Amino acid sequence: MCTELREGCYTVEAMSELVSEIEAWKDFKKSVKKSGECQVWTGRGFGEKGYGLFKHGDFNHLAHRVAFMYYNDYDPVGIRILQSCGNKRCVKEEHLSEEPPIAAAAKFTGEAVQSPKGGR
Ligand SMILES: [Zn+2]
Repeated sequence: MCTELREGCYTVEAMSELVSEIEAWKDFKKSVKKSGECQVWTGRGFGEKGYGLFKHGDFNHLAHRVAFMYYNDYDPVGIRILQSCGNKRCVKEEHLSEEPPIAAAAKFTGEAVQSPKGGR
């Protein structure tokens, strides 16, 4: 069970259930406010990287991923969701997109090379 209030703390099963719950989505929308071109998450939880967290039941979900799942009707497992506007709290449908696999792969390689445990 994942109950800590931190980023990345969610399960696929719980998220699928979550999106099927209309009441949960209504709750979600209560914490979203329009801000300029964006719709930003104003809920209480924020992960260490600044993404909004939506607490539902025993689980914490990344708010922008919940929004992406709801709008696109599938769970982007293993894929980062980026905000085109650069606002990590933004959950606006038009501002959310999947990170291209090539960018993700490049980032992974870069991290491996820079690892302090990688050599002497
Ligand atoms: Zn935005």
